Amino acid sequence: MKDVSISAASLAAQALGWVDPVTKAVVPPIHMSSTYQRDTDNNYSSGRIYARADNPTFDQVEATLAALEGGSRALVFSSGMSAACACFLAMSPGDHIIVPKVMYWSLRNWLATFATHWGLKIDFVDADRTDAVAAAVRPGATKLVWLETPANPTWSVSDIAAVAEITHKAGALLAIDSTVATPVLTRPIELGADIVMHSATKYLNGHSDIIAGALIGARDDAHWAKLRAIRAQLGTILGQMEAWLLMRGIRTLFPRVQWACRSAQSLAERFAGHPMVADVLYPGLASFPGHAIAARQMHGGFGGMLSIRVKGGERAAIATAARVDLWKRATSLGGVESLIEHRASVEGPGTPCPPDLLRLSVGVEDSGDLFDDLDQALRRAHNA
Ligand SMILES: *Cc1c(COP(=O)(O)O)cnc(C)c1O
Repeated sequence: MKDVSISAASLAAQALGWVDPVTKAVVPPIHMSSTYQRDTDNNYSSGRIYARADNPTFDQVEATLAALEGGSRALVFSSGMSAACACFLAMSPGDHIIVPKVMYWSLRNWLATFATHWGLKIDFVDADRTDAVAAAVRPGATKLVWLETPANPTWSVSDIAAVAEITHKAGALLAIDSTVATPVLTRPIELGADIVMHSATKYLNGHSDIIAGALIGARDDAHWAKLRAIRAQLGTILGQMEAWLLMRGIRTLFPRVQWACRSAQSLAERFAGHPMVADVLYPGLASFPGHAIAARQMHGGFGGMLSIRVKGGERAAIATAARVDLWKRATSLGGVESLIEHRASVEGPGTPCPPDLLRLSVGVEDSGDLFDDLDQALRRAHNA
């Protein structure tokens, strides 16, 4: 594309505008080869040797993700978990690390078991309180601060810019799980983050048909080379078919996320006054504790994820989920179809998730239909 200012939405829609130079195809081919021919002079002039390190099918999707996040480089992974775990495996035993108490549950479990056994010293903090992060930081010893914002499943919000300042003063790196915010709403690197992580399974792909992850780095430096090496060594690369599907999904990221934000805001406001709902957790509500920070660091909406707390406790919450029709009872988020989940049942013992909470992932259906379906389920569960 010409060197004029093009919005991120346009870059995403055209996947940076790449056209295949040989065939002029506007949609890229899929490269299936697992290996590359060596030259007669014994070098690899293509720069490629073996497909456990990377694949030409990654080029366009990684370049697009780096552009959307305002980063220098991106790496796609076999899952969000493998992308996140690479950040922790890049640390050394004995390193001090700060992570949120409220975060994606599977990653929290891995950190509390494998990562601590492997020798990382991990503090779980109330990451929606900047002062709690500041109190936990040990200058010189702390090597990584991890934030998730808004955070599963209460959507608590962390102040990325404020934590970046504290983190960098201590000589540590800041990584953000930005799966829920997406680059449509928040660009953490511009706020001071060093690494952005996505479960690309969710909004980036958007169609609930692949498992994928991504890291985006602010700088192409020695730390980035380490993350690239971890992916190549463990073989946690994305399959080429999945990389192609992810690129297709990202083309519609902006309209999908913008639609979901509008619907989630409308649903949050309507359920806030509902007689069978005790509380609505959504950063877009003025009454939400993290609203002021969210309004500063999220642009154009507050995301497609919200939770409701049902009057009548756990039993009423499960009974409500059992009575929806349009919403689908399933885990995951960020797809075009709306999902509802009794989150405490998934997370099990030790979860900070309230037992009366239903997590809602708002898709691209009509928001009036979504309201009506959940409204009838709440009423029928209440009367059952
Ligand atoms: C789903 C999810 C992950 C894990 O990603 P997978 O692609 O399922 O491995 C991490 N963080 C958040 C916020 C998620 O929603």
